[in-house]
Amino acid sequence: MSIQVRHLMKRFGDFAALRDVSLDIPDGKLVALLGPSGSGKTTLLRIIAGLEQQDEGVVLFDGKNYTYRNFRERRVGFVFQHYALFYHTTVFENVAFGLRVKPRAQRPSEAEIRRRVQDLLQLVHLEGMADRYPSQLSGGQRQRVALARALAIEPKVLLLDEPFGALDAKVREELRRWLRRLHDELHITTVLVTHDQDEALEVADQIVVMNQGRVEQIGTPEEVYEHPVNPFVCQFLGGTNVLPGRLDRGRMRIGPLEVEVPGHQDVRDTPALGYVRPHELVVHRDAVGEGGGLPMLVKNIHVIGPLVRVELGRTDTGESIEAELAKDRFRELGLTVGESVFVTPRRLRVFLGDAEVGLAH
Ligand code: ATP
Repeated sequence: MSIQVRHLMKRFGDFAALRDVSLDIPDGKLVALLGPSGSGKTTLLRIIAGLEQQDEGVVLFDGKNYTYRNFRERRVGFVFQHYALFYHTTVFENVAFGLRVKPRAQRPSEAEIRRRVQDLLQLVHLEGMADRYPSQLSGGQRQRVALARALAIEPKVLLLDEPFGALDAKVREELRRWLRRLHDELHITTVLVTHDQDEALEVADQIVVMNQGRVEQIGTPEEVYEHPVNPFVCQFLGGTNVLPGRLDRGRMRIGPLEVEVPGHQDVRDTPALGYVRPHELVVHRDAVGEGGGLPMLVKNIHVIGPLVRVELGRTDTGESIEAELAKDRFRELGLTVGESVFVTPRRLRVFLGDAEVGLAH
C-alpha cells in the first residue's frame, strides 16, 4: 500500500511540530524518516498510524483519505523503541495478541493462531522461544518479538519508531541488516524512524530528511548523501567541515586555496561556504600545487579501528576541521601532534546561502 502525506501541520500548544509536511511513500518500499531529536519524525509516524490527530492536512493510503480512520482500521503494524511487550505473558501470547483481539467474525481458530504464531516466530528467527517470558530474552530478541506481533495482523503498512534505538551498537547493526532482508522477503511498505544516518543510509530505499518540523530533502541514500540540497542535509549526513571563503567568477577561494567551481561565472566576489567531508580531505606533508593547500597544524589524533581521525587547526584563521584517513595512509604520512601539514579537498560542495552552487573536484 502506498502512503501520501499532504500539507500536514501539527502544533503542541505554541510549538509547531510539523510545518507543511508532504511526501509520498511508494508501495512496498522501505522509507526512513531521518532527522535530529525533535525534528518531528515520531509525530509524523504517529499521525500516519492514526495514533495522533493532525491540525491540518491529510494522509492518504493508496489514494484514499484515511484521516478519520483509527489505528485499527488503518491495518498498520507499529513497533516502538521500548519494546512495549506484555511482560506477564509468554512470547507466544505476545505474538498471538493481535489475532485474539480481532472481532469474533475475523478471529482465526485456536489451531490457526498456533500455526500463524509458529510461522511468525520462524520468520523472526525465534523458533523454540514461544514459551519464554520477555524478561528471559535479550533486547534484540524482544524487538524481534515486537516485530512478529506487529506482523501478526498482516499489516498493509509497517511503522517502526526507532526500533533498535535502545540496543547496543553491534546488535543494532545486525538487526538493521536482518530488517532489510525481512523487508526484501515480505515487501510490506515500511516507514522507519531513526536519527542514525548510518542506519538510514544502509537499509532505506528512500530517505526523508527532516529538520524542525519540515522536510529538507527526499531521495535515495545515494542522492541525499552525494547531492545534499542544502547545508543542513550536507552536515547531517556524513559529518562535514565548513570552510568559509569567497566565490568569484567560478572560482572558490579559501585562504590561499583556490578551486574551480563549474558554473556561476556571474557571481562576483561573494561570501560562500565550502563543505567537505572528513574522508574527502587530503593531507600532505608539503605544500602542493597552485596555492599550496590550506596550512594546518595537527591538534589531535584519534585512532578508531582501521580509520584515523585527525583534528587540524587552520594556521590562518584558527578554525578546526577534521580529516579521516585510512590507517595505512596515516602511517605513510607519519603524522604527530603539533606538526604542520597542508590540506586540499578531494571534493568541495559550495553553497551560497542555502543553495548549492557547485561541486568542485
Ligand atoms: P526524537 O528523535 O527525540 O523522538 P522526533 O524527531 O521524533 O524526536 P517528535 O517526537 O516528533 O520528534 O517531537 C517533535 C517536537 O514536538 C518535540 O520538540 C517535542 O517536544 C514536541 N512534542 C511531541 N509530542 C508532544 C506532546 N504530546 N506535547 C507537547 N509537545 C510534544
